[in-house]
Amino acid sequence: MIPNKQLTKNFFLHEFLKSQTAERNPAIKEKQYSPSETILLNIQTVANSLQLIRNFWKLPMHITSGYRCPELNKAIGGSNTSAHTWGGAVDFEPLLKTGEEAGGEEYLKIAGWIIKNMVWDQLIFEYGTIECASWLHLGKIPPDKYPKERKQFLCIGNYTQGKYRNCRIENGRLIII
Ligand SMILES: [Zn+2]
Repeated sequence: MIPNKQLTKNFFLHEFLKSQTAERNPAIKEKQYSPSETILLNIQTVANSLQLIRNFWKLPMHITSGYRCPELNKAIGGSNTSAHTWGGAVDFEPLLKTGEEAGGEEYLKIAGWIIKNMVWDQLIFEYGTIECASWLHLGKIPPDKYPKERKQFLCIGNYTQGKYRNCRIENGRLIII
């Protein structure tokens, strides 16, 4: 297991490794907390992006899932091609200054800002409702594919019958395409 370390002003490595499923399974935990140097570099790139978002919005961001070793990804039923498996993605919830979870307005504003201002491959408005996601997924592309970002903005939830759909933000609302 590698020791925790500060990646950026506000984010630490273990926030990107932490997983309740891994905590309950020692074999998965050992792998999950021992990422390779390459994966660590990818996690750093994602942490840098998340720090840019945090700096602009001046809101704390709670990471719900960062890197997932293949064993963990399998255990939680994640997609084989998920950018989480090479450290290229993060799921996060913006928090209000009071520490409560942000509302739909913040989710949509932050998603809109990412689309306009950041280098990103996939942005997913995940679960919750069409007004307010439960979390945002921000995915980068592997360094060897740079700069071929797909710039896919997707949403998934009951309102899409559990399927990924393309979407856009218009007048502060999420529109499924
Ligand atoms: Zn994700």
